[in-house]
Amino acid sequence: MGKSITPKQIKANNRQLIYDYIYENGKVSQQDISYALRLSRPTVASNLVALEADGLIYKNGMQDTELIGRKAVGYSIVADYRVAIGVEVRSRKLKMIAVDLYGKPVDFEEKGLPFEMSDEYCRRVSEEIRDFISRHDFRDEQVLGIGFAMQALISTDGTSIVYGAILNNTGFKVECFGRYLPYPCTFIHDPEGAALTEIWHSQRITNALYISLSQHLGGALIADGMIRGGKHGHNATFEHIQVRYGAEAKKCYCGRYGCLETVCSMSALLGDDQPEDFFEAVRSGEAGAVEKWNDYLGILSRMVNNLHLVLDVDVILGGHLAQFLTEQDVRFMYSVIREATPFDEEEDFILLSRMPRHNITVGAALTYIQAFLADIETRDTPSRLS
Ligand SMILES: [Zn+2]
Repeated sequence: MGKSITPKQIKANNRQLIYDYIYENGKVSQQDISYALRLSRPTVASNLVALEADGLIYKNGMQDTELIGRKAVGYSIVADYRVAIGVEVRSRKLKMIAVDLYGKPVDFEEKGLPFEMSDEYCRRVSEEIRDFISRHDFRDEQVLGIGFAMQALISTDGTSIVYGAILNNTGFKVECFGRYLPYPCTFIHDPEGAALTEIWHSQRITNALYISLSQHLGGALIADGMIRGGKHGHNATFEHIQVRYGAEAKKCYCGRYGCLETVCSMSALLGDDQPEDFFEAVRSGEAGAVEKWNDYLGILSRMVNNLHLVLDVDVILGGHLAQFLTEQDVRFMYSVIREATPFDEEEDFILLSRMPRHNITVGAALTYIQAFLADIETRDTPSRLS
């Protein structure tokens, strides 16, 4: 039997199409929508009335329209019709951010709260989140969900931690927070949050490897514009590839020796020092600092080359260190890679992160925003490719 589309589905589809068009264009008139989507004026008019009545869009003043040669009412989406909350759980603190439907941060807050795997900790975190939400007068139904960015590997369904060596929280369940919060909750591996933010802000990224150069090394694989989670939830965990052996291999937090984490993470480069001080020395030409930086860039270049041999995709350098990288550093990396790779290819695959600030926390919230925008009628929980 052939598939047929019902009048109800056509109606829902038109509503979504009109909403998407307004969303993408910011401010549009009824005539613009009708013309662009090839929908009749009465169809567009009735949908606009319904969308406005439901609170999804609003009349945003008048605007010029070429089609009728005079001003017409402009419609925009209500950006905070729904919001999502991103929470970054760190060893000593908690970061919270609310983002609107355009992925724009509404507010950011940081609290000192040492992590511990206990019910009391989950209760306190949930209290902080509820306070944060009520300070912004978000109604419960306005909040799509809470994304918790964890320094850990997450089960493919986002409900539990399958490997948490940094915070020692393997087996931790998102339900521990969820029992205190009236919203859907999900875990996300922190570099995946950062990668999601990157995709959001750069439409041209469809396939890429995101490398997070922060206190710890991490990454995410982007395939078809989505995060690819892998069969067992440990996709793109190149930080544990062994690159040093014997006496020169340092111990990694995973318990093994010589992992990329031990030579390529920010803590491998700086220990407990602040990057601001180090880069001031590098950029002012202080010999010791320059040598240290060049050594690190050499190691980073060889790591990028090895990964690029496996995955012939763009490599995005993000994380805390990314903001200090210059175009000159990238040229240096290409010069190392040129020596190391057998392929004579365009030097166009290393990209610097476009949004290092709050990217993990924003990304944790974006999973919910994406799911909402994909279908404005349902509140499906976010999913990812596995
Ligand atoms: Zn390791």
